[in-house]
Amino acid sequence: MFRYAFIITKIRMTISKKVYIIINCFFLITIGCKSITKISQNVTLKAQKADYFADNGFGNAVAIVQHPSGVFHNGITYVCYQGPLEDPYVASYNHTTKEWKGPFKAGISQMGKDPNRKKKIDNHGKPALLIDDEGYIHIAFGGHGGTHEDGENPLGNHHYGKNLHAVSKKPLDISSWETLDNISLFGTYSQFVKMDNGDIYLFYRHGAHRSDWVYQKSVDNGVSFNKPVSFLKHKRRTEIEAEDSWYPWVSKGNGDDIIVAFDYHICRDNKNAQDARGHIPERHNVYYMVFDTKTGDWKNVKDERLKMPLTKEMADEKTLITSTDLDWTFQGVTDVDPKGNPQVIMLVGPDIGEKRSGPKRLQHFRWNGQAWIKSKNSDLPRGNGDLEVKSAKEVSIYLESDTNGDVGEISRWDSFNGGESFNKRTVFLRRKNSSFVISSLIDNPHPDARIIVGEKEEGSDYRKMYLLGDSGPIKRNKNKTIFEKPTINKFNN
Ligand code: ZN
Repeated sequence: MFRYAFIITKIRMTISKKVYIIINCFFLITIGCKSITKISQNVTLKAQKADYFADNGFGNAVAIVQHPSGVFHNGITYVCYQGPLEDPYVASYNHTTKEWKGPFKAGISQMGKDPNRKKKIDNHGKPALLIDDEGYIHIAFGGHGGTHEDGENPLGNHHYGKNLHAVSKKPLDISSWETLDNISLFGTYSQFVKMDNGDIYLFYRHGAHRSDWVYQKSVDNGVSFNKPVSFLKHKRRTEIEAEDSWYPWVSKGNGDDIIVAFDYHICRDNKNAQDARGHIPERHNVYYMVFDTKTGDWKNVKDERLKMPLTKEMADEKTLITSTDLDWTFQGVTDVDPKGNPQVIMLVGPDIGEKRSGPKRLQHFRWNGQAWIKSKNSDLPRGNGDLEVKSAKEVSIYLESDTNGDVGEISRWDSFNGGESFNKRTVFLRRKNSSFVISSLIDNPHPDARIIVGEKEEGSDYRKMYLLGDSGPIKRNKNKTIFEKPTINKFNN
């Protein structure tokens, strides 16, 4: 009996030992499987491609006004945008090796750090980018007019932020940056232009709404800049309670020319007897002028010299393309054909009695040598865009638009009759339930990288950032597109 019991126990022990071993084996296999799963997940993630290059665009991460946001140089496209905490970020893409670098934080903006500010994201200080003749990369960023703590603004009023200039520590290397103290901190809406001789012009508004527009010139690759020179004058109006204010968009023309499209902001007092709405983003008219950087003269389209800084009266007399009457305007853009005849686009929409206008549509204007021709361009959908003029007849508009109300699209529209009619040629990106913010066209663009786009997402201040060209978005390994996204509160604590 005892013997039997012993044997049974032994058998039981053996069984439980076997079970133990089996369980152990199973456990090890499971762990092994798990590791394998993990590894394969990593492999999958690595292999997975995203069509965006970064997920940390912030607010209106790019816009047409602050430009260029990108430059193509020696086989590489360099791009910049507003990232977390409104700081400027720079990334690059090598078209030969297909390698992405960055984004790297290129400076620290004074804006975007105050959790108590009423306007959560200011958006005015997003960067503009330029590469000088020695290969150093420059950005201007962070400004919205400066504050009273910065002292008197000799050319306008104050608001917020500090316009700063950062430069890469090494040529064509976006990984490390130095912020210099050589431009006016009162600037906002920075726009860089480099001429063929290497001279650099930084255009900006010297303060808040009630400020002159100026440029600062550098002849030593941005090591130093001359003092700001006004070209559009702000001033008090006498017959109504308002000031003259401006929104130019500045770009390189042919040869030594810099070309400017602009509209007028009637900057009403908050309390005024003319309009019960008070101060509203009311802008009118379409203007054009040219800066001959060789002679230093400013001219209208008829080659007549202009007295600078340009006043509202002189602008109306000498540089007007069209009066939009009661209609409101937004964001002009200009380009010039090889013969020197300019074309201009401007968003125009009706005054609907509210603090914003009704829907704005792009209007296209072409100087034919004698007069400004307003195109019908009725087939262009609603949206904001940039203009590329190949000849008097051959024109393209790169457009961000909402089709059917819920599909965001970035597309190129071509005209072969000087803007009279446009046909959709290429769709670069299309997303349901999305809308986009777009940059100006990249300077000297590679066909695969023409424009930078941020995708607005419901319920988030962050944007996926895309680099778009004729082959659609430039892709990147998905695990390389995810970046830290600090909150304002976290930063302050
Ligand atoms: Zn104003």
